[in-house]
Amino acid sequence: MQSSSKIAIIGGGISGLWLARKLLVQGHTVTVFEKEEQSGGLLSGTDFCGRKIDRFYHFICRADSTFQEEIRLFPSEKKFFWKEGKTANFINGKLYPFSTPIDLMNFSPLPPLRRILFGMFTLSCRYRNDWQKLDSITALEWLEGALGKQALNSVFLPLLLFKFGPYYDKISAAWMWHRIHRVAKSRWGLFGIEKYGMYGKGFYELISELQLDIKRRGGKIITNTLIEQISCNEGKASGLRFNKKIEKFDFIFSTIPLPALCEILPEQYKGGLPKVEYLGVQCLLIGTKKPISPVFWLNLFHDGIPFNGIITPDYLANEKPNIFVHYVPFYLSPSHPIFSYDTRELRNLVVPQLKNLFPEFRETELVDFQSFKYSFAQPICLVGFGNIKSHTVSGLRNFCFLDAAHLYPSDRTISGLMEKVADLSNSAFLS
Ligand SMILES: Cc1cc2nc3c(=O)[nH]c(=O)nc-3n(C[C@H](O)[C@H](O)[C@H](O)COP(=O)(O)OP(=O)(O)OC[C@H]3O[C@@H](n4cnc5c(N)ncnc54)[C@H](O)[C@@H]3O)c2cc1C
Repeated sequence: MQSSSKIAIIGGGISGLWLARKLLVQGHTVTVFEKEEQSGGLLSGTDFCGRKIDRFYHFICRADSTFQEEIRLFPSEKKFFWKEGKTANFINGKLYPFSTPIDLMNFSPLPPLRRILFGMFTLSCRYRNDWQKLDSITALEWLEGALGKQALNSVFLPLLLFKFGPYYDKISAAWMWHRIHRVAKSRWGLFGIEKYGMYGKGFYELISELQLDIKRRGGKIITNTLIEQISCNEGKASGLRFNKKIEKFDFIFSTIPLPALCEILPEQYKGGLPKVEYLGVQCLLIGTKKPISPVFWLNLFHDGIPFNGIITPDYLANEKPNIFVHYVPFYLSPSHPIFSYDTRELRNLVVPQLKNLFPEFRETELVDFQSFKYSFAQPICLVGFGNIKSHTVSGLRNFCFLDAAHLYPSDRTISGLMEKVADLSNSAFLS
């Protein structure tokens, strides 16, 4: 590709916008296509309870090194800051702080010797880097073998249920290892606290800054435009079909999830795409006068409660808000009945349970509700997921794709995507 090629990027989430910025710096002509009214994808914002916030909760871990490096080179890097955040496990009516090694030593659902074993196991995951062997066993088998059933049930089962719902018993140990590894690396010192990175009043601000930067550099972001098909000619991606017309491009990047890409790729190339399935997310936002949860991240493991966590990013904010916002996410297949619930139905599902969980909670403290859903939220990292290395489709030139599955065994993170975007924009197939 020449130094001033005409490039199209499908998808205006953080991956597409970050890639656009990199390619503009290299001197290309770049257009980003986004099907929604606003770009940002999972990092979009919303107006709620008198202020603008993220539609879905986001934070950066200390282990997210690419984000920290890249943001230093970004004009508004001063908006990024660290805050101490507390996590806790709420197990059958009792709250157990779970942020520091001292919390672990006081974690009474485990006998004292098991707590020590747990601490050593976390430390070994922190320093372990090889994961290939863990790809062939389930997280449940691995954790039960290493820590015993009690630790599995009281700490890791809620997490697996939280993220993967009905697939919780089929998830690979490699994914679980990376999750423990990332969080353990976020501790500031061996016996230190956990801190989390935030951006401005929400990561939607990063999206706004990026949009401005892209426009300043001459790039275009076209919203409200669904790409219907990638047109190909003699083994080359040559253009995009949208709004009943075809526009020609020298090179096309896709940053949309693989199942969505599969829908717009011509039939003969579909077989060349890796098969990755996703869970959707349905998330209820609850505004209250006083915080419901006492910590930033609360894992719930309570019989009969249909959700596994409450996240309150306001604990990480620079200013105490008048109205606190809590996120109650449900990771589930888009065919699950809860995925089609509206905000009122979600409210009716969640609020009665809040009263059961927190006896001091009063409905008079509730201010407002909103909900958002997203079909491709989380790749399902089953045993044997492996990792997808290639960004190209066999037999198709002038085309590259990026999917969260490229990050495996890492979870889908902003930082991980930024790292892959940097690799893609510097890679040989662009020259
Ligand atoms: C509930 C939740 C919480 C999270 N929390 C964190 C966190 O704390 N920290 C962290 O690092 N990561 C977190 N993540 C992950 C993070 O949100 C994602 O990794 C990141 O936002 C994905 O960005 P993306 O651009 O790759 O994809 P997306 O945000 O999915 O963007 C893809 C875009 O493509 C558009 N699109 C799709 N099809 C088409 C088409 N045919 N034509 C045009 N446009 C199309 C979509 O509308 C969308 O805007 C979280 C994810 C979820 C679901």
